[in-house]
Amino acid sequence: MAKESQADQLRTSFRGPLFTKRDTGYDDARKLYNGMIDKHPSIIAQCVDVADVIAAVNLGRDSGLPIAIRGGGHSGPGLGSIDDGLVIDLGRMKGIRVDPKARTVHVQGGCTWGDVDHATHPFGLAAPGGFVSTTGVAGLTLGGGIGYLSRSVGLTVDSLISADIVLADGRFVTASEKENKDLFWAIRGGGGNFGVVTSFEFRLHQVNSVYGGPMLWPIDQSREIMKKWRDYVLKAPEEISGWFGMMIVPPAAPFPEEFHLKKMCTIVWCDRGNGDQVKKRFTNIQKEFGKPAIDFTGPIPWPALQTLFDDLLAPGLQWYWKSDFIKEITDEAIDLHVKHGEKIPTTLSTVHFYPINGAVHKVGKKDTSFGYRDANFVQMIGAIDPDPSNNDRMISWARNYFDEVHPYSAGGSYINMTMDSDQEQVRLAYRDNYERLVTVKDKYDPLNLFHINLNIKPSESKEGVAKKHR
Ligand SMILES: Cc1cc2nc3c(=O)[nH]c(=O)nc-3n(C[C@H](O)[C@H](O)[C@H](O)COP(=O)(O)OP(=O)(O)OC[C@H]3O[C@@H](n4cnc5c(N)ncnc54)[C@H](O)[C@@H]3O)c2cc1C
Repeated sequence: MAKESQADQLRTSFRGPLFTKRDTGYDDARKLYNGMIDKHPSIIAQCVDVADVIAAVNLGRDSGLPIAIRGGGHSGPGLGSIDDGLVIDLGRMKGIRVDPKARTVHVQGGCTWGDVDHATHPFGLAAPGGFVSTTGVAGLTLGGGIGYLSRSVGLTVDSLISADIVLADGRFVTASEKENKDLFWAIRGGGGNFGVVTSFEFRLHQVNSVYGGPMLWPIDQSREIMKKWRDYVLKAPEEISGWFGMMIVPPAAPFPEEFHLKKMCTIVWCDRGNGDQVKKRFTNIQKEFGKPAIDFTGPIPWPALQTLFDDLLAPGLQWYWKSDFIKEITDEAIDLHVKHGEKIPTTLSTVHFYPINGAVHKVGKKDTSFGYRDANFVQMIGAIDPDPSNNDRMISWARNYFDEVHPYSAGGSYINMTMDSDQEQVRLAYRDNYERLVTVKDKYDPLNLFHINLNIKPSESKEGVAKKHR
């Protein structure tokens, strides 16, 4: 019952709810977004303020309990939790303060992108999140952050002004261009390796209603549509973005019944331009790409675009995913994508290609720790289904697909969209920025207290000490 006494010790300085295996509510508290992952932590500490986070970090460090940090709980491999360890869960820290004059927002570490959109939309402003609203701000931001606004304003980290962080030694610091610059560089891509981020400050952008939504074509047109999309997004104005995907049409409204369960390809658009300019652009797109079989595009409020896929992707589904950064999608690679796209194994399984050119390329390769400023696309292969008995089949589809197309990639995976966390993968994800990340890790977390992530290990000697310590 050592864990019970550690929980009792934490209770003396902790305000939020604490759960151990004996507590009612433990099973709910430990649930993760990915239904494939089932972890049993010793203590789940649901922090309500910075003082709680400091108390939890101190307990983990001094007791030797391994620590996982949980923001929105969406990590594919379940890195927001840990068996037999301490989960520092920020899910109750949902404070948000918008400053409409300065066009900034402070967001606590437990918010989702839906929380942020709700708070900023009344001011006609938005921070660049991803493609759904339920993902945690914390994990998405710390890995870089790719979304509809990437081409026009950059990655999520490119709008990050500062972050408040509880370090491994329990100190509370702010990282920005002015303070702890090395730490600020590292957290813009380096994941949860350096401390627990309790609050983020973002620059906001004028985004109220956009023009966008999905267009769908029959799967036998995917080769042609994918080529047109590739050529289009490489030269389109930065204010428009659109990701390409292959999918099975869900058997539900608003999809017309005749297309239910049909394999199709899609482009989901988001255009920040205004009025006549956008109308003209979409008339041209229709001409260039050919009339879609289903067309949902139109004016749409930003939060509505962000929530379009939330209901389809409810928590608890089985998820397995692979990703690659890509510089160039060759015609030869397109043939392979079409071959595997046509074999999508379950209704929710899918493959997406997100453009990350435009504004993402305006930030230097070494200005943040994000490893692939020179890539034009991120490919995400998602094997998704409610039924665990389909896991073997869909995982084998994802792996075969990935193995065949990986040679056409830029070499590494996006840390936020992979199940692989071995050291080789981490090095490939950060490329030339890896060694500098190790230097920052040595300074701020030399004992590798925060290692449940795509782990930047401290340098050899320090890692040896860390192992002894744990
Ligand atoms: C349905 C779905 C849609 C997605 N869409 C996108 C997308 O559009 N764009 C995109 O870029 N990514 C997307 N992702 C990937 C997403 O960015 C990652 O899964 C991300 O890790 C989720 O963050 P989280 O806080 O919800 O996760 P968690 O599981 O809570 O945490 C993930 C990682 O971040 C660390 N972490 C979490 N909170 C903190 C904190 N406060 N301080 C320090 N470290 C912390 C954790 O330790 C863990 O290693 C999507 C994921 C899902 C499941």
